[in-house]
Amino acid sequence: MASEAKIASGGTLLSHNPATGELLAELECATPEEVRSAVLRAKTAQPQWQTTPVSERVALLRRFQNVLSERRDDVARLLCREAGKPVAEALATEVMVVLDAAQFCIRHAHEFLRDKPLPHGNIVMNIKRGKLVREPYGVIGIIAPWNYPFSIPAIETLGALVTGNAVVLKPSELTSLIALELRRILLAAGLPPDLMQVVVGEGPVGAALIESPIDKLIFTGSVGTGKRVGEAAARRLLPVVLELGGKDPMIVLDDANLEIATSGALWGAFMNAGQTCLSVERCYVHRTLYEPFLEMCKKKMARLRIGNGIDSEADIGPMIHERQLRIVEEHVNDAIQQGARLLAGGRRMTELGPNYYAPTLLADVTHDMRLMREETFGPVLPVAPFDSDEQAIDLANNSDFGLAASVWTRSRRRGEALAAKIKAGTVMLNDVISCFGIADAPHGGFKHSGIGRTHGELGLQEMVQIKYVDVDLLPGVRKPWWFGYGRPYQQAMEGFVDALFAVRWGARLKGLLRSVGLLRHPNRI
Ligand code: NAD
Repeated sequence: MASEAKIASGGTLLSHNPATGELLAELECATPEEVRSAVLRAKTAQPQWQTTPVSERVALLRRFQNVLSERRDDVARLLCREAGKPVAEALATEVMVVLDAAQFCIRHAHEFLRDKPLPHGNIVMNIKRGKLVREPYGVIGIIAPWNYPFSIPAIETLGALVTGNAVVLKPSELTSLIALELRRILLAAGLPPDLMQVVVGEGPVGAALIESPIDKLIFTGSVGTGKRVGEAAARRLLPVVLELGGKDPMIVLDDANLEIATSGALWGAFMNAGQTCLSVERCYVHRTLYEPFLEMCKKKMARLRIGNGIDSEADIGPMIHERQLRIVEEHVNDAIQQGARLLAGGRRMTELGPNYYAPTLLADVTHDMRLMREETFGPVLPVAPFDSDEQAIDLANNSDFGLAASVWTRSRRRGEALAAKIKAGTVMLNDVISCFGIADAPHGGFKHSGIGRTHGELGLQEMVQIKYVDVDLLPGVRKPWWFGYGRPYQQAMEGFVDALFAVRWGARLKGLLRSVGLLRHPNRI
């Protein structure tokens, strides 16, 4: 099938429309030498960018916003053609999210990059003034997945650029055209070309990027690849952010609004054909609501429209690729064999095109099934009952992943109490996934879901190294802690330690008197 041929063969990479199998483009893969020279060009261009005033870097982001909002429909349609997303969804979850992330950088870059005074707690160290300075790393390597092929690399690129870095991006082999479009928009906004380059290709091109002289890597992808990437980066002590997979639980408490929770569950499990790192991958419903919840989900699913996302009426498009479909099939079949109840879907929809899988509802799932342990990444909603809040938390935390979770309840107090006990980077009350669209909110996972954060201020923090600059206010004075040790000095130092930290106040006072000896410190050098 054409979609299989999407994988690179030799030095060429074919881009296909997952909805139809239509060939969109044939692209040359970058060789390791080309990856290296792209990084070297970025390294040469970056120092000048670092010294460019923040206001000019911010102005570049404003122009980027303008160009993107003018081209928003073209970008959304390309996202539909190369990644299979409904156009409306591409606008909401990719284009708008990027415009908003740009706005965040525009608003906060000045304050974020301003040197911050660092007051000293120790009285003696008040003869110095300290400050924290944020410096760009240099060249940030970005390796991106196909499921949010515009927003993920764009948000990271904007953060890297506004903080004074250059970027070399290795997009997923399945969505190169979208990455190239991102670069075109940046260049149209006036970015010097060497500051953002795209190297196209499969895994080996990503591996070559890790071996090249980049200064930091932001990787987004699966746990398996993330571990390999982490090992390769560790060998050369390359700092990394790893944004990896999820198996997000949704907990529906007995006081939840059933109407809202069922709609949320269906959107959370099926938007982007279930191919979102924050998708609802496990759903736990209180036993008193369990059967009504399943019944309502089933009824609502009959109203969903599946088809090519270029048609504005489609809610759910195709999956990205045959290989992803196979994983979904394996998980669903394994669950059914082990006793899960299939209530809807559970089959390919070949009548629509090469990569369609019917939205699937499964009840009575257990953690013995792969569907509840491994990332499925497809349009499947597996549901299981629970009897108490404690049991729901145990089930939610019974996973190697910890990206995000959601709790559905009418009681904010109860929801927050559960949020405190769930081991995940994000917990949402009464919504799913949309945290990714909150530009201020950090994004990242606990456990195998990753290391570090993207988005918001914590995301910007990953783009800079902290330098501590310390200025002595008495530059003409030898310091009393320099050489010149001896018995009197030692006693005075004992007194000084007591003066600051002795348990009893009397001892502190005595220590203060003894510490006066430090002023007679016979500096020997
Ligand atoms: P993937 O791990 O297969 O590939 C990710 C990227 O790594 C691709 O560009 C790929 O070409 C590259 N790559 C593959 N092998 C490599 C190697 N040895 N060295 C360097 N790079 C290599 O993931 P995918 O299928 O593209 O994306 C889906 C996965 O991404 C899911 O697991 C999903 O949960 C995860 N994801 C996580 C987040 C997050 O923010 N946590 C967001 C989106 C997707």
